Amino acid sequence: MSRVLIIGCGGVASVAIQKCCQVSEVFTDICIASRTKSKCDALAEKLRGVTKTNITTAQVDADNVDELVALINDYKPELVMNIALPYQDLTIMDACLICKVNYMDTANYEPEDIEDPEWRAIYEKRCKEAGFSAYFDYSWQWAYREKFEQAGLTALLGSGFDPGVTQSYCAYAAKHHFDSIDTIDILDCNGGDHGYPFATNFNPEINLREVSAPGSYWENGKWIEIPAMSIKREYDFEGVGQKDMYLLHHEEIESLAANFPEVKRIRFFMTFGQSYLTHMKCLENVGMLSTTPIMYEGKEIVPIQFLKALLPDPATLGPRTKGKTNIGCIFTGKKDGEEKTYYIYNICDHEECYKEVGSQAISYTTGVPAMCGALMLLTGKWDKKGVYTVEEFDPDPYLEALSKYGLPYKESFAPVLVD
Ligand code: NDP
Repeated sequence: MSRVLIIGCGGVASVAIQKCCQVSEVFTDICIASRTKSKCDALAEKLRGVTKTNITTAQVDADNVDELVALINDYKPELVMNIALPYQDLTIMDACLICKVNYMDTANYEPEDIEDPEWRAIYEKRCKEAGFSAYFDYSWQWAYREKFEQAGLTALLGSGFDPGVTQSYCAYAAKHHFDSIDTIDILDCNGGDHGYPFATNFNPEINLREVSAPGSYWENGKWIEIPAMSIKREYDFEGVGQKDMYLLHHEEIESLAANFPEVKRIRFFMTFGQSYLTHMKCLENVGMLSTTPIMYEGKEIVPIQFLKALLPDPATLGPRTKGKTNIGCIFTGKKDGEEKTYYIYNICDHEECYKEVGSQAISYTTGVPAMCGALMLLTGKWDKKGVYTVEEFDPDPYLEALSKYGLPYKESFAPVLVD
């Protein structure tokens, strides 16, 4: 019996909401609130009659703490699921603290305006001290630890697939398969084809910022940063086949390095086709990935937001996308004094996802873990006060829920390693 406020109603949220409605004995009441209320109403209408969950909708600007506080005080949820954008993480956390409600999200904070001088000064200091230059990092949300702890509240950060499930895979490997882990390689392969020359699988602005940034990995206690897309490997993925993959900076490396300090190297690879990379480079070269506003015919526009308006909405890729995703982690380390390797991964089929919830597999592989993270908090299986990432909780009930609700894991005890 839980009341949950879900903020955002885009590609990922629409899957998470549908999955919550499949577990209506826990998610008895949900309120879907977003900037564009008509999208919330349309989804509520689609679910009417097919779920026992009571659904209401609301309009909210999640950049505005006062509006959030008013909505939370009115609806009185036990948990707020932030499935809007990383830009809203801090305002929603602030509102949760004021209203004394638990919080969760699927991606760590990054600012919308990277030219803001106050943010920029902190960012530049962090780049120098930490050694990586991504616009996002955990420091902003980790700074809330004491406040959540003192308020007796939980904030669960990054319960999507990566971040999210990948960290739980690390906790599972550490709990069941290793005495000590030496290396972790996170491999994210999307073998899906949507037939467009160029489209992103989730919010284009967030996605393109991430993949056009310099890559970095964690080695022997420090970050090594490399030019974007400059480390390439090939890997033969089960269910997909041979793919080129590139080393990227990714947020969970930061928390894994903090929570598994003995691990010597942590890397993240994502697959990209040549056409995607050529389009992205061209758009970057002409300035279309810029987040700095420019004046056009007397009106201020942000190039990447204009590009977003031109690109296919990721939420509409579902009916066109064929193929599979394969995302998981490869470990090397020791068990009982012996060298050991282990690979844990999930394979997800775009067309199967579309049949079930009307979305492609990227939204599905993020939306299902969002629901499962909420389920862990609402059922008390994860019950620590403060601000935590997924690997800091028991992986067993989470992986069990993921298997039950659509994302079962597979294992290999003799995987091909990435050099
Ligand atoms: P979408 O752009 O499809 O959806 C975002 C939603 O948030 C929209 O409904 C949008 O409203 C709403 N929104 C945006 N700004 C505000 C605001 N100020 N106030 C209220 N609502 C707002 O994004 P996705 O569904 O693709 O991504 C959602 C989240 O999931 C992102 O944080 C993304 O980084 C994360 N993600 C995480 C992954 C993981 O594996 N961990 C993988 C993929 C995504 P409107 O309809 O008006 O635009």
